Amino acid sequence: MYRRVASEVCKTLPRLSNGNLSGIAGVTVSRPYSNDYAVLDELSFSETVDKFFDKAADLVEDKLADTMKGKLSMDEKKRKVRGILKMIKPCNHMIELTFPIRRDNGEFEIIEAWRAQHSQHRTPCKGGIRYSPIVDVDEVRALASLMTYKCAVVDVPFGGAKAGVKINPSDYSERELEKITRRLAVELAKKGFIGPGIDVPAPDMGTGEREMSWIADTYANTIGYNDINAHACITGKPITQGGIHGRISATGRGVYHGIQNFVNEASYMSMIGLTPGFGDKTYIVQGLGNVGLHTMRYLHRAGAKCIGIIEKDGSIYNREGINPRDMEDYKLDNGTIMGFPGASTYEGNLLLEKCDILVPAASEKQLTSENAHQIQAKIIAEGANGPTTMGADRIFLERNVLVIPDLYINAGGVTVSYFEWLKNLNHVSYGRLTFKYEKDSNYFLLQSVQNSLERKFGKVGGSIPINASEEFEKRIHGASEKDIVHSGLEYTMERSARNIMRTAMKYNLGLDLRTAAFITAIEKIFKVYEEAGLTFT
Ligand code: NAD
Repeated sequence: MYRRVASEVCKTLPRLSNGNLSGIAGVTVSRPYSNDYAVLDELSFSETVDKFFDKAADLVEDKLADTMKGKLSMDEKKRKVRGILKMIKPCNHMIELTFPIRRDNGEFEIIEAWRAQHSQHRTPCKGGIRYSPIVDVDEVRALASLMTYKCAVVDVPFGGAKAGVKINPSDYSERELEKITRRLAVELAKKGFIGPGIDVPAPDMGTGEREMSWIADTYANTIGYNDINAHACITGKPITQGGIHGRISATGRGVYHGIQNFVNEASYMSMIGLTPGFGDKTYIVQGLGNVGLHTMRYLHRAGAKCIGIIEKDGSIYNREGINPRDMEDYKLDNGTIMGFPGASTYEGNLLLEKCDILVPAASEKQLTSENAHQIQAKIIAEGANGPTTMGADRIFLERNVLVIPDLYINAGGVTVSYFEWLKNLNHVSYGRLTFKYEKDSNYFLLQSVQNSLERKFGKVGGSIPINASEEFEKRIHGASEKDIVHSGLEYTMERSARNIMRTAMKYNLGLDLRTAAFITAIEKIFKVYEEAGLTFT
C-alpha cells in the first residue's frame, strides 16, 4: 500500500522535484501546496534518490545535447541524451538471497540478504555491506545508486553497488556472525556479485574489518583460489589481510575535509551568515559509530567544539564541549554514550538544538519536513547516506541552510577503498619502493646546497650547515602509506568540492549543492556512455 502511494506521488507531482527553488539567486519560487513537504517525505529512499537525479538531469539535459560532438541533428542529440540519462538511472542487477544458518542454540534460521549492482559503466562495482534489522530491497537499491553518483563525484572509477543483510548483529554471537558472513560471501561469489574485477564490497553500518576479513578469506579459499588478486575482492580489510592505513577513519576524515572546503569559503559562509574557519563553530553529531566518531575527532582537532551527541538510546550535551578521546574510551568500556561524565543527559530532541554544524551520521530519513523547520544548524554535513528527505531538502533550501550532500561529503570511505584496491592489485604498499630513495634524495639535496655555498663563500669561519625547516623535517623521511592516503584523500575532497562549486555557479544553484553534485556526477557518467559509442536500436 505504502509503495503504491509513494509511486502515485511521483506520478502526480512530476515536476515537483524539478520545481523552482527559493533561496537561489535569480530564481522564482513555485511554492508547492501546503502538505507537499510531507508528501515528499513519503517517497521511499530509492524514489528519493531517483527524484534528486531527475531534478539534476532535467537541468543538465539541454547542455549535454549542446556540447555533444558528432554530426547528429539537435533532435537526434536530444534523443540520445535522453536515452543515456535513462540508462544511467535504473539499477542494473539485484540479487535476493535467503540461506539458512544453525544458531548456537541448535535452532535454524533463514537469513535474508540483497546485493544491488546499480551500474557497470565502470567496473568493478563498489559499495558497502550493511547489517541491519530494517534493511530492505528498496534501501539497498537506493544506496547502490547513490554509490554510482558518489564514485563519479570523487572520480573513483567504479560503478555503484550495495548489500544489505537483514539482521541485528548484536543479536548474534561472533560464531554465528562468522557463519552468516562466510555463507553470504559464497552466495555472492557463485552469482558473480563479488570479485576483484566485478564487484568489490566494503564495510557499512553494522560491519567492519572483521567481516571484511572473513569475506576475503572465504573468497580466496573458494572461487578465488586461483586468483592472485583474490584479496582485492573486498576493501576495508585489516592491514594484515591487505588493508590500508587510514581506511577505518577515512569516511570521517573525508567528512571533515568536506566541511573544511566550504567553511573556509567566504562566499558560502556569507550566504548563510557565518564567518569562515572552524574556530568559533559548534557541532552536534547524530550516530557515534564509525563515521560519527571519526568526524567528531577531526572537527575537534580543527578547533570546532562538539556540544552534543545523539545515539539510539539517548542524547548527551555539554555547551563547553565534549572530548572525543574520553568519549570514545567511555563508549568502548560501557557500550553506550549515556552516563558519560563529561556531559549531561539531554531531554528532548537534540537535532533541534542551536549549533553551527549538524552531522547526521546514523541512517537515512532522519531530517524530515517534521523537524527541518526547527533545525537551527546553518550547515548540515550528511555523514550518513540519505539522512535528508526530499521534503526536508526543500525546506533547508528555502531557509538558506547549507546542506553538504552525502554523495560528496561521505565519499572519503570509497576513495580510500579505491586506494586499497589499487594497493592489492599492485601487491605492494604505498611508498615501499620509493621511501628510501626519497629520503636519501632529500639529504643529498641539503648536502648539495651546503657544498655549493661552501664552494662559493669558502669555509672560513666554519662550514655552512643547511638545516631543514620544521615543515621539511617532517617530510624528509619520505611519505609513508598513511601520508599518501591522507594527502590523496584531502586532494580528492578539495578537487571535488571545487567541481561542485563550479557547477553550482554555472547553473545558478545557490546553496543547492546536492543538485550541483548530481549534475557533476551525471556529466561524468554521461561522457563514459557517450564516448563508449553506444548505439540505440
Ligand atoms: P555504524 O554502525 O558504525 O554506526 C552507526 C551509529 O549510529 C551507531 O552507533 C548506531 O547506534 C547509531 N544510530 C543508528 N540509528 C540511530 C538513530 N536513529 N539515532 C541516533 N543514532 C543512531 O555505521 P557507520 O559505518 O558509521 O555508517 C553510518 C552512516 O554512514 C550510514 O548511513 C552509512 O551508510 C554511512 N556511510 C558509512 C561509510 C563507512 O565507511 N562506514 C561510508 C559512507 C557512508
